[in-house]
Amino acid sequence: MTEETLIITDKGISLQRPSPKIELVPYTSNFLKEKAPPFDFQKTDAIRIGNILAEYVRHNDNSLGLSACQLGINERVFVIKVSPEQIIAYFNPEIVSTSKEESLVEEGCLSFPNLFLKVTRPKEVTVRYQDYTGKWRDASYTGITARVFQHEFQHLEGKTFLNGCSRLKIEKAIKKAKISGITYNLKEVLAYVCR
Ligand SMILES: [Zn+2]
Repeated sequence: MTEETLIITDKGISLQRPSPKIELVPYTSNFLKEKAPPFDFQKTDAIRIGNILAEYVRHNDNSLGLSACQLGINERVFVIKVSPEQIIAYFNPEIVSTSKEESLVEEGCLSFPNLFLKVTRPKEVTVRYQDYTGKWRDASYTGITARVFQHEFQHLEGKTFLNGCSRLKIEKAIKKAKISGITYNLKEVLAYVCR
């Protein structure tokens, strides 16, 4: 276990288990539309918030990452499952640079169940962030972690993975979601396209 790793186990560093009331806010929520304010380590318990997020991801097999705003927590932090055993919390994350090379990969989002769209993103990112002790760290990612980092970063900016997607693509995705039993309001979803 490296210093920057925030691993949640039954005997882990979790100080307080999340209340059963903690659940995702609906996709229409303002929490998903507003830029998250800087995380203040003096005011907010970073370990507790990190644990709430990490535990949610840990118990959700479909999830590779989660931003605080998705749980209705107005803090600038997200977590990423960087490997099956490791979840890292990124406080006040910044994207320093991205590669020119891009890839097109289908993405989903816990806040938009069964809505899947292909999204173009840079293949590599260089980032900086504060760990749960407040220490600044640098990192470079490729592959799926680079993609998830960019996806979660959009959440903190009050955007989503739908930003920049065409209306046609979104209409198709909504139709597919409906077949699987989830009905979306087209207008509400389209509001995320131009954010
Ligand atoms: Zn998401």
